[in-house]
Amino acid sequence: MNQRVRINTTGGPEVMQLIQDEPQRPGPDQVLLRQYAVGLNYIDVYFRTGLYPQALPGGLGLEGAGIVEAVGDNVREFQAGDRVAYAGGPTGAYATYRLIPASVLVRLPDAIDFETAAAVMLKGLTVAYLFHRTYALKPGQTMVFHAAAGGVGLIACQWARALGVKMIGTAGSEKKVAMAREHGCWEVINYNAQNFVSRVRELTDGQGVPVVYDSVGKATFTGSLDCLAPLGLMVSFGNASGAVEDFSLLDLSKRGSLFVTRPRLFDYVASREALNALSGLLFEQLLSGGLEAQVGRRYALSDIQQAHRDLEGRELTGSAILLP
Ligand code: NDP
Repeated sequence: MNQRVRINTTGGPEVMQLIQDEPQRPGPDQVLLRQYAVGLNYIDVYFRTGLYPQALPGGLGLEGAGIVEAVGDNVREFQAGDRVAYAGGPTGAYATYRLIPASVLVRLPDAIDFETAAAVMLKGLTVAYLFHRTYALKPGQTMVFHAAAGGVGLIACQWARALGVKMIGTAGSEKKVAMAREHGCWEVINYNAQNFVSRVRELTDGQGVPVVYDSVGKATFTGSLDCLAPLGLMVSFGNASGAVEDFSLLDLSKRGSLFVTRPRLFDYVASREALNALSGLLFEQLLSGGLEAQVGRRYALSDIQQAHRDLEGRELTGSAILLP
């Protein structure tokens, strides 16, 4: 029997309903996957509320790890029994069994367990592209990264330390500040207690930083621009506080010819080659000990509404996973 979360309409956590059905047979190019751990991501909230539209009724969730149960026609790279993980493809990860295009799967090294994979695939691939593709960080550089104690955040802290990059993180409570620091963040600012722009200016002798990674969105966007040195890059990659409103191009010019980008993971792993290269970087970090998965909380599928309430209520640190 399969258990999966379905939404018939967009809205609050209550729109997520757990239903039971039979696992389906994979169609051409598809794999039937038995999932043992599923990642909870803030992007799931955007799909649930309708900020990111999808056809309804629909599923939720974009990340999981498990064992291939059956493969459809044309699938050559995988067979029943393979240990795999994914981040992306159609929504529907909140389930025991699911169909998934083989093109988004990667084979999991034996040393990486399912919980670890579900905790780091989507968030770790995100850090990989942000730090190695969107802006190629170099040892000794200083940068700003918001929400440093969250799922993506704690991976960023550890990855920055491994690269020798000085990360100035922000976080919403003293407990979160301490966690980010413990995971390798060079300096951490409680942005609910202190003006983060002045503190960043202070820490950089008034120079600002070459790059800001901002997933908080609406609440921090303008402040983030103010943290940049001339010719700096604003990487706006999320909307946890709401979508960024329109801004004037002159805001970039008057602060010193700034650049701005609004990247999505899925564009950086669109080809098999790009996906393999970035997951290679991620697995290397895990296997070398530079990165350890931080599972902050585990939920049963039946607790999915509570899991979303905790995520939106800023209750969580590190990665949360579902155990179907
Ligand atoms: P997190 O675990 O980081 O949770 C979001 C965090 O954002 C909260 O814990 C909170 O931390 C902070 N936050 C600030 N303001 C608010 C607010 N008003 N409401 C809720 N949270 C707020 O989530 P994830 O690790 O799953 O994702 C982090 C971000 O990265 C998300 O915005 C996500 O959409 C984005 N993302 C983007 C990708 C891309 O390719 N573009 C890919 C993956 C993730 P605090 O209390 O410390 O402020």
